[in-house]
Amino acid sequence: MAELPRLLEGLDPEQREAVTAPRGPVCVLAGAGTGKTRTITHRIAHLVERGLVVPQQVLAVTFTARAAGEMRTRLRALGAGGVQAQTFHAAAFRQLRYFWPRVLDGSVWPLTDNKFRLVMQAAHRLGMSTEKESVRDVIAEIEWAKASLVGPEQYSKVTTQLGRPTPVVADQLSKAFEVYEQLKNEARVLDFDDLLLHTAAILEDHPEVSEEFRSRYRSFVVDEYQDVNPLQQRVLDAWLGGRDDLTVVGDANQTIYSFAGAAPKWLIGFPRRFPEATVVRLERDYRSTPQVVSLANEVIDAAQGRPAGTRLRLVGQRADGPKPDFAEYDDEPAEAEAVAHRIAALAQQGVALSEIAVLFRVNAQSEVYEKALSDADIPYQVRGGERFFARNEVRQAMVSLRGAAARDDLSGEDLPANVRAVLSELGLTTRPPEGGAARERWQSLSALVELAEELAATVPEAGLARYVAELDMRAEAQHPPTVEGVTLASLHSAKGLEWDAVFLVGVVDGTLPIQHADGNDAAVEEERRLLYVGVTRAREHLTLSWALSRSAGGRRHRKRSRFVHSLVPEGHPAALPAQTARRSGSSGKSKADKPTCRLCGNRLVNTKDIKLGRCAECPSDADQELLAKLRAWRSQRARELQVPAYVVFTDATLLAIAEQRPGDSAALTAIPGVGATKLERFGAEVFELVSGE
Ligand code: ATP
Ligand code: MG
Repeated sequence: MAELPRLLEGLDPEQREAVTAPRGPVCVLAGAGTGKTRTITHRIAHLVERGLVVPQQVLAVTFTARAAGEMRTRLRALGAGGVQAQTFHAAAFRQLRYFWPRVLDGSVWPLTDNKFRLVMQAAHRLGMSTEKESVRDVIAEIEWAKASLVGPEQYSKVTTQLGRPTPVVADQLSKAFEVYEQLKNEARVLDFDDLLLHTAAILEDHPEVSEEFRSRYRSFVVDEYQDVNPLQQRVLDAWLGGRDDLTVVGDANQTIYSFAGAAPKWLIGFPRRFPEATVVRLERDYRSTPQVVSLANEVIDAAQGRPAGTRLRLVGQRADGPKPDFAEYDDEPAEAEAVAHRIAALAQQGVALSEIAVLFRVNAQSEVYEKALSDADIPYQVRGGERFFARNEVRQAMVSLRGAAARDDLSGEDLPANVRAVLSELGLTTRPPEGGAARERWQSLSALVELAEELAATVPEAGLARYVAELDMRAEAQHPPTVEGVTLASLHSAKGLEWDAVFLVGVVDGTLPIQHADGNDAAVEEERRLLYVGVTRAREHLTLSWALSRSAGGRRHRKRSRFVHSLVPEGHPAALPAQTARRSGSSGKSKADKPTCRLCGNRLVNTKDIKLGRCAECPSDADQELLAKLRAWRSQRARELQVPAYVVFTDATLLAIAEQRPGDSAALTAIPGVGATKLERFGAEVFELVSGE
């Protein structure tokens, strides 16, 4: 009991009401950043601490693996680490593995790793198009049908009733759906939706299983409940089996999966379904500055057809921060490069890279940002850490580490060095490789070495065996190590998360809203909600940007998103119509100042080359001794300032200094990566090193 206040501290009266409500139905209906996730995690911890529920009897679910990871982290911090927080799918899969052998033969069928091929075979058999795009459309439609609890035999009727446009004639789709199911069953594999379907069916049809389940799980919590689909709701009902110990929280304005069958009607209808429920509404936004909150309110105020009761205005609670910024660029590479520069500047101001995110509408947008960040030597991670232990390189590493621990043949006491030695056989180099998959692989392996360092620091006597046990425990608890770096993520996967600085990129018509939403008002509204989700991820710094052409030198025919027209403040360069804005110089360089190689005179386009002032092919004329001195100085300064070395100067900037030996301020600031702040901070020391004094 003495601990009690700790869990109620830092909660406002409404949040506290939801946290302390007795076991039974509770519903929190509130906007982004108002503390819904905080409220449910505190509620769980509170119930556990008061002994009202055993951690193992609570099942908390949410919709994305990242959000589930975030929930687990928060629960652990509150001392309720024993509670399961998972996605619907992960929870169902776990249950299915346990139930399946009891009611069906053998063990659970594996998940298919090639749904595309199965659907393609079905399409081929029926003489339908097997083009990639068509197959993708058919897959998406089958997924919608399964999530909406519509089987092949009802598909045509239901879509006609709903007036739902179908990618191919409805009868054909229902046949393809049927053949797909057949092929899948013959191959004895499951798809993602089957995990939920089978779980619900087993619980519904086998009283002995459901009884056991009910004695095991007694309390349910659903975050982001606005995005529940009929299939998930059926699973939830099967879990509950008529009981009412259910806490749900959500925000109808953040419904972003209705294209896949989700609907906020269960959230909004919760108080009607459970008239005795404790219902709480929150409107204080604790996440974002008033500037970000005001933009978020503007975005969602423009929404059409909002359900009754969802017109809450968020009220920002934090201190003032910078105004959200808008920026327009000629092309995507220029946009990405500018974002990388801004990120470097934020890092220099002390914003941790793990507190910065670049969010986009479709995953294909990621690549140009990966390149720009690699060019600028800024580490990033494309996927969240949540699937860390499922990554190929990590699985390989675990096998090798386990082998090495069993052989016990590594001499030396130094655990991190031993781990590094094992992983170097898998290709772990001391320096990160350039961009792409190789870099991600490198980051995963490096994260494993860092974990070894962490363990060695806390348990000095730990050897490889202890380390491997630690990895197993973390894999089981889905507790990945943090991979330091900027997050690159889709808007969908960013739901529920928050960062100090957020860059919403590619905000052009055709991408946000996505092209295929055009002409469908409901689909356009969903795209607007996606933008709202994006805006509300930012605590402090928020930039929205777009590019007029996809590739460098391409035709600048794109337009900024219709959603941002009214948001850009008057007088802002990005507020002008596209062409004028370009000429008024919101970004980009005129031909005259296009950088050229100081050795061969060719034009430079690559960021690294521009920094060096020469092309990569031209030989480096760096003073090696000076370079070594600069490196040592940088390490020392980075240690003193407690920042990563590249925050002082990136490798490319350091090399450029060693090559160009700048003697005065003008020459030093001419090196990209050295602005006024760095000049003031480090200028004198650099000149000293260069002059050899
Ligand atoms: P979303 O709709 O985006 O999922 P949410 O409503 O779940 O948002 P949380 O993530 O729980 O919001 O909270 C947003 C931020 O505000 C978190 O950093 C949280 O710790 C903080 N916060 C919430 N409530 C309070 C409070 N009463 N006092 C201080 N900080 C709070
Ligand atoms: Mg949340």
